Amino acid sequence: MSIKNNVLERKNERITSLFGAGRTVTIQGTTINGHSGIDFVPEGWVITLEEGEVIAVKDSVSGVSIGTGNDFGNYVHVKVNSRYVLRFCHLKQGAIVKVGQKLKKGARVGYMGTTGFSTGVHLHFEIRDNGVAIDPLPYLEGEIALSVVPTTPSTEPLPPANTSRHVIVAGDTMTKIAGKFGLSLNAANPQIKDINRIIVGQVINLLSPEKSTDN
Ligand SMILES: [Zn+2]
Repeated sequence: MSIKNNVLERKNERITSLFGAGRTVTIQGTTINGHSGIDFVPEGWVITLEEGEVIAVKDSVSGVSIGTGNDFGNYVHVKVNSRYVLRFCHLKQGAIVKVGQKLKKGARVGYMGTTGFSTGVHLHFEIRDNGVAIDPLPYLEGEIALSVVPTTPSTEPLPPANTSRHVIVAGDTMTKIAGKFGLSLNAANPQIKDINRIIVGQVINLLSPEKSTDN
């Protein structure tokens, strides 16, 4: 893989853990399922890959804090536009940005650390699409841009009414979810294409079985 959008100032990032559902991490007996971002080394300054506005900063953690297993330690969230937010986690204490600050592309957001649920110095980087963690890799490789889809004109068809919302929980598989909604796996028709990438907390919408209205 070749990274075109750099998240480290020295542009020397290496990925140590990819995004995905099948990954588990255990630290001191606490296990989390699924990985909502991509992890990077080596230690250095973290920069924002897009210009944006700082919308959240945590800087109170000075060491490892296992907590619930979803503890990102010190972090900075940068809002790119109405759709996408970048999250930079496990940062070293000593915030250099504050909420409301506008950042240019490439500006420093913090220094890599190992605060929170972490076994060593690394960056946990996430892209949230309307709040849902998506796989950052296609963006990092320059295959997609973080642009806002234009507002759909009123002539666009509305989403079907027979849609069921499901929030992914630990242990879910697409087969299980399809069963829950009385669908074949093929008919489940999730929003996501890669069933290996469902992650805990992700929201998917499934079409209910077709009602036979003919004859
Ligand atoms: Zn991570």
